[in-house]
Amino acid sequence: MQTRITESPEEAALILNRGGLVAFPTETVYGLGAGINFPEAVEGIFRAKGRPSDNPLIVHVANVEQLETAVSEISRDARRLMERFFPGPLTLVLEKSGRVPYSVTAGLDTVGIRCPAHPVAHEFLSLSRCPVAAPSANRSGRPSATSWEAVMEDLDGRIDCILKGEASRIGLESTIVDCTGEAPVMLRAGAVGLEELQQVAPRTTAAGPAREGETPRSPGLKYPHYAPRATVVALEAGEKRKPQGASAYIGIGQAPDGTALARRCGNLDDYARELFGFFRECDRRGIRTIYCELPPETGIGRALRDRIRRAAGGH
Ligand code: AMP
Ligand code: MG
Repeated sequence: MQTRITESPEEAALILNRGGLVAFPTETVYGLGAGINFPEAVEGIFRAKGRPSDNPLIVHVANVEQLETAVSEISRDARRLMERFFPGPLTLVLEKSGRVPYSVTAGLDTVGIRCPAHPVAHEFLSLSRCPVAAPSANRSGRPSATSWEAVMEDLDGRIDCILKGEASRIGLESTIVDCTGEAPVMLRAGAVGLEELQQVAPRTTAAGPAREGETPRSPGLKYPHYAPRATVVALEAGEKRKPQGASAYIGIGQAPDGTALARRCGNLDDYARELFGFFRECDRRGIRTIYCELPPETGIGRALRDRIRRAAGGH
């Protein structure tokens, strides 16, 4: 399959509305979209990514009309969170409507809904004739794509179109909040911090790790995510290691002596924006070990720690 690259949201939406697979920029990471009314295209997402079929897709909407197509019930807390954070880097898990096929939600009766703030994403989505199911536009298990070049690296020849835009401003996936229970539960950390959620919905808590034998509330979170080929080692701030072999460092502080590639970020937002691109650069350069400084657990620091820990596995 030839992958068409375009900067035109109209052209990309035409391809989507004919049942095509289209990668598009958002403020978090690039998404790989299919209209939820096209079952074959939805299946195509799982095939193109090599994504396990029990990992549900987030449904993207541009407006209230598309939102109402996809969900059957919106709790008071959910409504308040939407009023404050939509459009933006937040996904809400709500009861799904009959219009959302189970292939999108991996058999669940709930659906993750997001309304991106990115102007190109917004234009593209508003030209779609139905809500758009879209996971991150990377091969499964690889770091999420934060630039169109990263989408090319993983999916060229496997999808119909890439809507080319700038590199993602945030660089980490959306915050996910489950609004189907008694009180909202943050399932995945992101740019919208727990403290901010609690300002709007004070009863919001962060999900602990799933206990043994328990079904995880967010199926995708059980998979080893965001991992480069290199071994990732998480370092507490100030912790020193003696780099072994071809190694790299990313963080706010000073790199350990002897690293072949070092990226010092000015602040936590830069760190978040650069992390996944840096992982990919390290893989291209044949780096074997990547040392990542763990930032403090506030604001987007919580999301960064989460992604670094996942990429590090046990290291
Ligand atoms: P990605 O878009 O690649 O970041 O993956 C989507 C993430 O959202 C996965 O971790 C899913 O488990 C999670 N997700 C999507 N829909 C739901 C849902 N209905 N309930 C809980 N988690 C969900
Ligand atoms: Mg993903």
